[in-house]
Amino acid sequence: MTAIDTAIRAAAADIELIGVTKAYDAKTVVIPQLDVALRPGEFTVVLGPSGCGKSTLLQMIAGLERVSGGKILIGGREVQNLEPKHRGCAMVFQNYALYPHMTVAENMAYSLKVAGVSKAERAERVATVAKMLGLADFLARKPGQLSGGQRQRVAIGRAIIREPGVLLFDEPLSNLDAQLRHDMRVELADLHRRIGATSVFVTHDQVEAMTLADRILILNKGHIEQFDTPKAIYHHPASIFVAKFIGSPPMNILAVTGDGSALRLADGQVVANFAGKGSFQLGIRPEDITVKAGGPIKAQIRYREDLGSHEILEADIAGQPLRIATPFGAEIDPTSTLSLSFSQARLHLFDNGTSRAISNAFDQTKSAPASVKEYQ
Ligand code: ADP
Repeated sequence: MTAIDTAIRAAAADIELIGVTKAYDAKTVVIPQLDVALRPGEFTVVLGPSGCGKSTLLQMIAGLERVSGGKILIGGREVQNLEPKHRGCAMVFQNYALYPHMTVAENMAYSLKVAGVSKAERAERVATVAKMLGLADFLARKPGQLSGGQRQRVAIGRAIIREPGVLLFDEPLSNLDAQLRHDMRVELADLHRRIGATSVFVTHDQVEAMTLADRILILNKGHIEQFDTPKAIYHHPASIFVAKFIGSPPMNILAVTGDGSALRLADGQVVANFAGKGSFQLGIRPEDITVKAGGPIKAQIRYREDLGSHEILEADIAGQPLRIATPFGAEIDPTSTLSLSFSQARLHLFDNGTSRAISNAFDQTKSAPASVKEYQ
């Protein structure tokens, strides 16, 4: 532990948004109403499609954008009317926002200089942070002489050198290539474990969300669709929106009808045992479908995508598209009708009107119809 690790861990603050709203004008209501509490030291990833309000939310916490209504509390202190520099947050931007004419050391020390921190302490903190981020050999370089990954590390260094209680990240990895994104993800996760700052990380990349987050906040048109751990979001999506947003390829969603004992597709095929009646949306992930001889559910194969480690089959089932992830080496006749079994314990049921998940829809203690049970 360095002095900076210890200081940040001690400063890690909780963040509370109470009835926060944001409208740019009467027609552009970006956040209709938001209530959420982030725990001290927690790493929250805000995930959602472009334009759903992620950056606006982050900028309101940072103070770069005003709230239209509601309160923001950081460490129990109301901050929505405070200047950014008085909120105890540091921000890392997508475009790094480094000063091009300053060296790495000067970029990192700049905010300390403005705050009147002594030269000796600035030098000490720069050395500590540079060592932490593998930048010790680059301190005399200008940003133009660094790689994208190194620049992003300088931007992170510049943020943590101030020992903030809250670190805010606005899509910080999106300018990096795939390999570097992966490496930076690992570095960020490691850094978070060491310094423990309350972190809010905005992205539209589900892999970043799944790998970095303690909890993922899924935003849709300024509303919270779900706020939970990556595992809970993957295994128990609260809505069709979440189900389709997390997982690659995304969860299959099939229109089904309950006849009082089973769920049927439009062509009459039974896909699950179910006591209810009416129209529903059934969710099943591509990896929870097995191709096997004698499988009770039939689909027509349309296309195969070989990814090396596994294959994705695109099929048609009762007039609806279905994706199946098959393990490497599976014997599949590309011209035939596929025989499938759906993993019954891994089905999801959604309300046809609200698109919200129906919890405990499948009572696993009841016996499934023979045609399905046989292949569980
Ligand atoms: P995200 O980060 O999820 O992509 P943003 O928070 O940047 O989304 O934007 C949310 C919505 O607010 C978008 O529809 C965007 O066009 C709108 N918006 C953002 N900034 C402004 C602004 N300064 N004036 C008007 N509308 C804005």
